[in-house]
Amino acid sequence: MAINIAIDGPAGSGKSTIAKAVAKELEFIYVDTGAMYRAMALHLIRKGILPEESEKIMEACEKADISIAYENGLQQVILDGENVTEYLRQEEVGNMASVSSANLKVREKLVQLQRTLAAKENVVMDGRDIGTCVLPNADVKVYLTASAHTRALRRYKELEENGVSCVLEEIEADINERDYRDMHRDISPLKKAEDAVLLDSSNMNIMEVKREIIRLYKEAIA
Ligand code: C5P
Repeated sequence: MAINIAIDGPAGSGKSTIAKAVAKELEFIYVDTGAMYRAMALHLIRKGILPEESEKIMEACEKADISIAYENGLQQVILDGENVTEYLRQEEVGNMASVSSANLKVREKLVQLQRTLAAKENVVMDGRDIGTCVLPNADVKVYLTASAHTRALRRYKELEENGVSCVLEEIEADINERDYRDMHRDISPLKKAEDAVLLDSSNMNIMEVKREIIRLYKEAIA
């Protein structure tokens, strides 16, 4: 049976960096579910749909064909036959994803895709609802967090490194707004699963967090 490691947490908590590092070490597949919600958001933006148009979102999401592929071990997201990975990290896309991801139809569609992947492959999957909803029987569940300021600084550096100029205060306000939406939506809100291990990465480096998750994994399969 496939082994599943679930990592949930708020924006900028370091989930993707850590999940990638753990997947590499264990030779598992890394599944970034946020990228799937972002691809769906991009599809909606391209259709000219606004975040508040929930009826239109429900209709349009049915028609989006989203799948993932791997290139040199890196996840690529394919939307209607086009590799859209390079467009997904834009703030506009992230903000739309944070709204459209609260839509039941969007979630049903993407959760199904995520479960199919996890049933076939050993995965490290990161997101907001992996431990609570997508993979309730995951072998290891981690809830990774960090202070809002630490997370904003990380996002700021990531954007600057990619040549996107931005204002730290705006990023922090965006993060707080997105956290609020993710934690207070009716369907699959972001929260720690009861049986997840809480890790606060504010004062831990990547190596320390990675080591702790590998230790939890070894403990789980022993
Ligand atoms: O993690 P990332 O910032 O790429 O996710 C973008 C948005 O997608 C999040 O703000 C969240 O609203 C949504 N998301 C979700 N469930 C997941 C992963 C992401 O609702 N499993």
